[in-house]
Amino acid sequence: MSREDPDFDANANPDLLRDARGAVVEYAPALADLTPGRTGNLSVREGDAVAVTPTGVPYDSFDATDVPVVSLEGERLAGRMAPSSEVPMHTGIYKHDRPGAIVHTHSPWATTMATLHRKLPPVHYMIAAVGREVPLADYAPYGTEELAANVVAAMAEADSDAAILANHGLVVTGPDIETAVENTHHVEDLCRLYLRASAVGEPHVLSDEQMATVEERFESYGQQPNDDS
Ligand code: 13P
Ligand code: ZN
Repeated sequence: MSREDPDFDANANPDLLRDARGAVVEYAPALADLTPGRTGNLSVREGDAVAVTPTGVPYDSFDATDVPVVSLEGERLAGRMAPSSEVPMHTGIYKHDRPGAIVHTHSPWATTMATLHRKLPPVHYMIAAVGREVPLADYAPYGTEELAANVVAAMAEADSDAAILANHGLVVTGPDIETAVENTHHVEDLCRLYLRASAVGEPHVLSDEQMATVEERFESYGQQPNDDS
């Protein structure tokens, strides 16, 4: 596969996706708050190219010139380090939905859901940050096209910006990396809430109608642009 291409020139295209690679360096340490060890990865898309975390290294141990850039077909274009083993999952999602960024973690509460093969239902309105539920993607080994296809299918079917990966972890997409990281925290927190509530009883789930109202209200939530400015 091209990400292991021994003929790849690690110094090729040093300026490609400069901003996106900078964002990968800036946000990679945020993975440490979510996911144990060196697991998890994140990426930022610009056009048809993707800056992604390097495989198997600590989150704070690389700079922008190390950060790999791959095409949407998974071809290595730039960066001194080899890209994440989950490039097929990242490129598969980008090709399907064109988000601006993707975060993948093995964060403990979402991964507990993953071991139980549970999807996250709308037990709290904040799930609207990613959709009306977080679906469960069928198990496939990490780094495979099969896992990529399972994740894309689960997200498409549920119309969700996130998926729980059976016996593995969580994926969350966003228009930009800041939002994707923030929404990853939201989903992780909601998984914790759901599991704690489930330990006591059966959590109540918001109806489609209730979620539709939340989605409407989300459109005007927060600081609105000043009409006079
Ligand atoms: P990488 O270090 O190759 O990104 O793999 C981590 C991971 O979480 C695989 O699913
Ligand atoms: Zn993983």
